[in-house]
Amino acid sequence: MRRAPERLVEKPFDLLIIGGGIYGATLAWMASSAGLTTALIEKGDFGEATSANTQKIIHGGMRYLQSLDLSRVMESVRERKRMLQLAPHLIDPLRCIMPIFGYGIKGKEVLTAGLSFYNLISHSRNDGMPASKAIPPCRVLSKADTLQLLPDLQTQGLRGSAEWHDAICMNTERMVLGFIRSAYNSGAGIANYVLAEKMERKNTHYVSVTCRDLIRNTNFDVVAQKVANCCGPWIRDLIKPAEAEKQLHDLHFVAGVNVITRAIFSHRVAVGLRDPADPASRLYFVVPWRGHSLLGTEWFAYKGNPGEFKIKEEHCAELLKGFNKAYPPANLGLHDVQHALGGLVPGSLTRSSTGPQLKPWNHFRLLDHSEFGQRRVVSVIGVKYTTAAGVARRVLGFLFPERYIENYVTATGFSTADDKPERLPNLQTRWDSVFGESQVRRIASTYGPFAEDVLKSASQCVSISAGKDNGIDLVRGEVAYVIENEMALTLDDIVRRRTDRGTDGLPPEDELVRVADYAASFLGWTQIYKLKEIEDLKKHYLQFN
Ligand SMILES: Cc1cc2nc3c(=O)[nH]c(=O)nc-3n(C[C@H](O)[C@H](O)[C@H](O)COP(=O)(O)OP(=O)(O)OC[C@H]3O[C@@H](n4cnc5c(N)ncnc54)[C@H](O)[C@@H]3O)c2cc1C
Repeated sequence: MRRAPERLVEKPFDLLIIGGGIYGATLAWMASSAGLTTALIEKGDFGEATSANTQKIIHGGMRYLQSLDLSRVMESVRERKRMLQLAPHLIDPLRCIMPIFGYGIKGKEVLTAGLSFYNLISHSRNDGMPASKAIPPCRVLSKADTLQLLPDLQTQGLRGSAEWHDAICMNTERMVLGFIRSAYNSGAGIANYVLAEKMERKNTHYVSVTCRDLIRNTNFDVVAQKVANCCGPWIRDLIKPAEAEKQLHDLHFVAGVNVITRAIFSHRVAVGLRDPADPASRLYFVVPWRGHSLLGTEWFAYKGNPGEFKIKEEHCAELLKGFNKAYPPANLGLHDVQHALGGLVPGSLTRSSTGPQLKPWNHFRLLDHSEFGQRRVVSVIGVKYTTAAGVARRVLGFLFPERYIENYVTATGFSTADDKPERLPNLQTRWDSVFGESQVRRIASTYGPFAEDVLKSASQCVSISAGKDNGIDLVRGEVAYVIENEMALTLDDIVRRRTDRGTDGLPPEDELVRVADYAASFLGWTQIYKLKEIEDLKKHYLQFN
């Protein structure tokens, strides 16, 4: 996948997508798979904004039973299955439990009935799925079984726990990239570091979007029959103020912060917890994450410019304080935090007895900007990573009602073949003797269908330092591969969104410098530029005082 913005001006497209988060990426994949000529531009790197900063849960929608939102439950069950089918190397079922204290609406009896109902309505969740990706039925665990999993849990009032399975995406950034690569393979014109500045109606059939190539510092226009604004928190930037006032007057942003901490529980199970003394208190969710815990979420109103949102020490401290109250044995301090992830979700002000409250939206919104003509320019505002592909299908149905859009479950950027039992052993037979068993396993789980290509590329990369040949170098091979084939242009792209080296914290200095040296040699960076890239990357990691 080569970056070639000049391809975007060659011809008018059926559909131009602005924004390369999960919503733009899934839309580009589906549109190009359906045979539409498609373009996608992203002002930064693919998936670098909200979509990189989720709690990594691919929801099965159990929680929506509480509000009896059955269509959302069914949508989540369907989309969780699609994600598991598409990217088995990145997504796995995740066992979750939530302790039950007391009686009433959140008591054991009501939950038992709710879980049975969920099992019933999601009965087809495993049809056609391999055993390794099967989602077991929900059930209620006894108090003794709960304490076996969480031995330090408060026993007073404990009546057991609800057990269900969601799924976890081990690399949300590469998941976005998988959709982008699939769209590219189906002929889409795609470029990162291209900012859409302005949209104009060109004539009755076309819309013209003025773009700025942020790498070459040039401007150009992309012309398309239809345009989808998938800019996430930047959704207002391309809409005329009067239109934004009319259609988005109730849009506010809610910021969410999650932290990666030392492992809080010893079992590989996600746990939902709230202060047992206060059933109305905030629910915290602890997800097992690469030998650590991913704890969330601290939510608060955000009024600033989306590009200026920054996680601060006080957000993390507030999160830990609330969680320590809900689960005192954790006793977490800032020194336990190794990385923090945060982003913005859409919300509205609602009235409550204690005054106005900001609540995240429950459903995505699709806005038709009729000043460009009916069904010509739309804005798509998503609420969950999980359901992006389902929303993409609905958006295409709206923009191209005359066309049947298939409910796709395969894509070339991923591979269902990856789940075939012979895939990893085949890679291991060929490459273990060259790179070692654990490295081949890591490459397989990071790159999925492209693992063989990465290993081949690496087998031709020899590390030379101080004029000495040090043999084959996997790191150099990975850096070469992602620059050549995945449009990685910065150290940040390489470390945080391609090679999986900086996903759960800042890599050690020597590793960082090594990756930067290789990137510099492939991309022609000067020494000063390389040091600036290292400094820019470090800004994405929190340093507490
Ligand atoms: C803390 C937190 C935890 C979450 N956890 C989960 C979870 O566990 N599971 C789940 O399903 N969902 C979760 N979500 C929700 C999910 O992350 C979002 O719904 C989803 O990522 C939104 O994707 P998006 O593509 O709309 O936005 P983004 O990922 O923000 O993408 C928008 C893109 O548009 C680009 N862009 C903006 N303006 C322009 C322009 N003018 N020109 C070109 N490009 C532009 C931006 O650079 C950006 O990359 C969570 C959200 C938060 C904040």
